[in-house]
Amino acid sequence: FQRLRAGLSRSSSALTEGISSIFTKRKLDASMLEDLEDVLIQADLGVDTAMAITERLASGRYDKEIAPEEVRAILADEVEKVLEPVALPLDLNRGKKPHVVLMVGVNGTGKTTTIGKLSQKLAREGKTVMLAAGDTFRAAAVEQLKIWGSRTGAEVIARATGADAAGLAFDAMKEAKDKNVDVLLIDTAGRLQNKAELMDELEKVIRVIKKHDPEAPHDVILTLDATTGQNALSQVEIFGRVAGVTGLVMTKLDGTARGGILVAIAAKHKLPVHFIGIGEGVEDLEPFKARDFATAIAG
Ligand code: GDP
Repeated sequence: FQRLRAGLSRSSSALTEGISSIFTKRKLDASMLEDLEDVLIQADLGVDTAMAITERLASGRYDKEIAPEEVRAILADEVEKVLEPVALPLDLNRGKKPHVVLMVGVNGTGKTTTIGKLSQKLAREGKTVMLAAGDTFRAAAVEQLKIWGSRTGAEVIARATGADAAGLAFDAMKEAKDKNVDVLLIDTAGRLQNKAELMDELEKVIRVIKKHDPEAPHDVILTLDATTGQNALSQVEIFGRVAGVTGLVMTKLDGTARGGILVAIAAKHKLPVHFIGIGEGVEDLEPFKARDFATAIAG
């Protein structure tokens, strides 16, 4: 929590400063409420949440004196209300083995790193893990996954650069079944420059996975880079359409001023948020907790 708080300090200090400059021990009036709404929207919390917070203030405290601390407490409360329903752990124990997780997301958002961190977590829980280097396009991504595999004791299925991603996914499914592994984590390409190609590739990958197990992939997890702010919203929409995203991981919450976007995404899409990334290290993946996030953001 301390690290999340430190990470989100830039988000929260912008909010804290905004709130402090608006609520200067005067009676609550319409212009203060309007200013607050602007500050909240600028912090990426989304229009709905911003309005809910100002309305709550308006209904209870209009024309009364109000301190910035009270505003922050109400902010934390309202943000928690939005986040609580989506703070859901990743359940890897349903269905038959292997439990298949497809990781999707724009290049650079932290797919490979998150797979490495998850692999470590699962290994520690005593699960056998296999990794599939489905981002066959980028040699660096394959190499990176191999490093994570050797670090966390997971077997890595990889092919030469440029190999067919669907073919690799098919082989990985077979291997995972033959070897009776508990969890198969499949990396994918995230070239957003060519959406038609990306869509086509992800569709094929999902189709061949289903040939082995119609219920798989059991989870399709989208990684979102917190530092990209509003872009994250459109990424949820695109990957939701293409790959049927079932859950989210927000990465790079260490040291960003844009963490508020998670609130807007939760309010709009109501997708489970499983984990947050708070650094580049193998341990820097934490279960998502609504209260911690809300208080870290409210300052
Ligand atoms: P991919 O292209 O989606 O697979 O992204 P990568 O996993 O290769 O990550 C891109 C960069 O972001 C790498 O330099 C990672 O070390 C870094 N990264 C990933 N997650 C986090 C995080 O939670 N915090 C920070 N600070 N960096 C991260």
